[in-house]
Amino acid sequence: MQKKFDVAVIGCGVVGAAIARELSRYKLGTAVIEKEADVSFGASKANSGIIHGGFHAPPETLKGQLVVPGNRMFDQLSEELDFPFERRGEFMVAYTEDELRILQTYYERGLQNKVPYLELIGRERVLEMEPNLNPDVMGALYAPTAGVICPYEYCFSLIDNAVENGVELFLESKVSWIGKNTEEQFEIETENGNKIISRYIINAAGLFADNIASYVGLHNFKIHPRKGEEYLLDRRVSRLVHRVIFPCPKQTSKGMLVIPTVDGPVMVGPTAVDVDDKHDLSTSREGLKEVFQYAQKMVPGIRTSDIITSFVGLRPVATGGDFILGKTEVEGFINAAGIQSPGLTASPAIAEYIRNVLIKEGVKLEHKPDFNPQRKSRFVRIRHFIDERDFNNYDNAVKKDSDYSKLVCRCENITEGEIVAAIKSGHTTLDGVKFATRAGTGRCQGGFCTSRVMEIIHRETGIPFELISKKGKGSEIAPYPIQKGNGK
Ligand SMILES: Cc1cc2nc3c(=O)[nH]c(=O)nc-3n(C[C@H](O)[C@H](O)[C@H](O)COP(=O)(O)OP(=O)(O)OC[C@H]3O[C@@H](n4cnc5c(N)ncnc54)[C@H](O)[C@@H]3O)c2cc1C
Repeated sequence: MQKKFDVAVIGCGVVGAAIARELSRYKLGTAVIEKEADVSFGASKANSGIIHGGFHAPPETLKGQLVVPGNRMFDQLSEELDFPFERRGEFMVAYTEDELRILQTYYERGLQNKVPYLELIGRERVLEMEPNLNPDVMGALYAPTAGVICPYEYCFSLIDNAVENGVELFLESKVSWIGKNTEEQFEIETENGNKIISRYIINAAGLFADNIASYVGLHNFKIHPRKGEEYLLDRRVSRLVHRVIFPCPKQTSKGMLVIPTVDGPVMVGPTAVDVDDKHDLSTSREGLKEVFQYAQKMVPGIRTSDIITSFVGLRPVATGGDFILGKTEVEGFINAAGIQSPGLTASPAIAEYIRNVLIKEGVKLEHKPDFNPQRKSRFVRIRHFIDERDFNNYDNAVKKDSDYSKLVCRCENITEGEIVAAIKSGHTTLDGVKFATRAGTGRCQGGFCTSRVMEIIHRETGIPFELISKKGKGSEIAPYPIQKGNGK
């Protein structure tokens, strides 16, 4: 299959998706090419979900310049795209005189980055606001504008809205070759046999952005993975903290944090360890020990027995350590590479930055009169009604669709209605359904609901059981034809 576009975005994590949504405002043919079976399967699925206040990155870096503008955009984005976002605030806490001096440094950095309402607060106020912190705390840097989101729901909503506004998404399409034709347009070949012709390429391929750049002869940066191990805790400790709690940072990372998630449970982590292998998603005993040392020092009520699962995210760290954004020596090839933390926060600001690069490159961006910024989530979140004892709305949802009364994931209270809606939105792998609905993320980690979710995927899509996968080809759950027995 061969198709022609004005712009091809390679990679559909939060950065590619935010760029696609931004470009969908204009009369442009835009393609998004993603190697995985669903979007947000790279670093964008395995992060802490924090919309940072913005005092960590130095002001002379792109990270420092784009974090606050990105943060500011999330109220409107969440309203337009219907994903949950809560401005909970964040603390960087100090336990020693030396750490109090570090807070001062970050306070000044935050002021330079124009973080709103930033303040240094004393021990009493810290403990009044977060009574479960270690009482030895001496003070904190407080950024009330920091928030939490569900990162994959944010990514899904961006690409949903982009597609509704005319962007074309190619999944399971790993870019394997890029050349130029006689009209100076890029020809992009994918492993599944697509050929995409495009005047511009935006390289948003995360960990593999250096490989993509090398296809057009650019070898001026490398991406190395920096591993982050995170631990998700049982709902028992959901209310231990309201805000994101940071320690004073280390040289390579913000340190291990205690993170309330927008869905309720608390996470702790991430570590920051440079590794060689871009596929190394293993957790380790040392990582666990390090994370809990930090977490328990800040919030002593946290226990390792509260862990319900762990995961690893790989930060795409570029040579030089900053984001790499902008045009290159190869005409029409634009990088949005090396987007490590705070990439989730900065993503909407990165999208505007890249739009401006296109304008500088001479692209005439004409607004689409029928651009619709609104996207409605396709399903009702029954858990919220249950948590809030909102039985009127619960009854209404069930009256409209009785599938909302059939519980599938008992740990997280996820119903068949939500799972069917996720499948109808295009999430047809177990991970896709899990990220869209939370089915399988609770205490039993899918022990009870996995087979039921597989049955529903099979029923709704006709995908044979043996082809139903965790996250696309090669990860089939039961890769042999299932024999119908006689019950003996
Ligand atoms: C542990 C951890 C915690 C973090 N916490 C936070 C946080 O709390 N707040 C914050 O602001 N940031 C955080 N970050 C950073 C944030 O997650 C990243 O900056 C962001 O997700 C990067 O998005 P991306 O779209 O550039 O990359 P990705 O999400 O990795 O997307 C790149 C995409 O490109 C695709 N791709 C690669 N090669 C090809 C190819 N050949 N063909 C087609 N597609 C290809 C991949 O499959 C992938 O989907 C964290 C990161 C980690 C790892």
